[in-house]
Amino acid sequence: MNAGSSGNVSVRTRHGMVITPSGCSADSIIDTDPVTMTLDGKPRGKRAPSSEWFMHAAIYRAYADAQAIVHTHSDACTALACLNEPLPAFHYLITRFGGDDVRCAPYVTFGTPALAEAAVAALADRTACLLANHGMIVTGTNADDALTAAITLETLARQYLLARAAGKPRLLTRAEMRAAHERFKTYGPASNVSAAT
Ligand code: 13P
Ligand code: ZN
Repeated sequence: MNAGSSGNVSVRTRHGMVITPSGCSADSIIDTDPVTMTLDGKPRGKRAPSSEWFMHAAIYRAYADAQAIVHTHSDACTALACLNEPLPAFHYLITRFGGDDVRCAPYVTFGTPALAEAAVAALADRTACLLANHGMIVTGTNADDALTAAITLETLARQYLLARAAGKPRLLTRAEMRAAHERFKTYGPASNVSAAT
């Protein structure tokens, strides 16, 4: 989902987080140990953590449910973020991220506490947001969940841009989104089949 050294991932630990080092690519990350650090910025070892460590730490501090974070510059999410627009309720799956849209945080220089603050605000009641003129960030209940969320968000952003290129997508109403939120409560392998029908 990333080209070059864009993007980074982390997982919450008992004492802070484990995060990708700064400047790693998909190829070089295979032979590179991740950086273990506290949420107030003390890394164990000499390697520099991702330049976005402050944003990851701020999200873990603000949202107890966030156990893993994926940040990408994936194409469709970044294209939409460059329009400084949210991903609206064009598809029922938007509910997967907690609300009726995925917000776009305003543009702030990468790797700054101000970007962390903007991302935390845009993530209120949500597990994803776009970062204007930059990319996107998602949280998950574990690493697999965060990766699935990242792939789902990128797919939705691509579908939205395709629909926009073809015409004017009809947005779902609040009632339709409410019904989708409700239906999701019984969706998935652990759901109660009788409650879902
Ligand atoms: P790092 O290589 O420092 O993780 O930075 C990549 C990035 O996406 C910055 O926003
Ligand atoms: Zn980035």
